[in-house]
Amino acid sequence: LAELANLLNRLLGEKFTLRIRNSEDIWPVRVDERQLEQVIVNLVVNARDAMPDGGVVSLETRRLSLDAPSERDRAIIPPGDYAVITVEDSGVGIPRDRLGKIFEPFYTTKRAGEGTGLGLSTAYGIIKQMDGFIFVESEPGVRTRFEILLPRSTS
Ligand code: ADP
Ligand code: MG
Repeated sequence: LAELANLLNRLLGEKFTLRIRNSEDIWPVRVDERQLEQVIVNLVVNARDAMPDGGVVSLETRRLSLDAPSERDRAIIPPGDYAVITVEDSGVGIPRDRLGKIFEPFYTTKRAGEGTGLGLSTAYGIIKQMDGFIFVESEPGVRTRFEILLPRSTS
């Protein structure tokens, strides 16, 4: 994540602050680092685009242990250990009735040439393939938070 910080800071430019918090060492996960990077970059670019006047993007990692299945946004998360990666911004937010759409391919609210609408559907596919989960939470005008759960590697 530290190496990624340089890239992300360059991507964000001067109007933005990148806050990184690794509360503890996360569980080892067996994932393709390149792909995971791609997902995080997509989320950070979206966060930037949601804050035309600049602002703070927070990137946080932590551990999560579930001793029973947990339901969230109609997904059932199996019990076990997870590495959690959170990307949060204080941008325009996403209205509740659109939250279900944003992971669909080609869904974009950006002007032609500025967004393809593929960032989040790609992210979703990559995380699924890793047996992980991606969730979104948003309070329009206040904040948007994406959370990625990746299962702990067992070997
Ligand atoms: P694109 O960025 O090309 O539009 P994405 O799949 O990355 O496509 O995102 C789809 C849509 O979801 C965006 O056009 C935007 O409307 C919404 N969105 C994604 N991330 C955020 C965010 N952090 N804040 C507000 N809206 C967002
Ligand atoms: Mg995008």
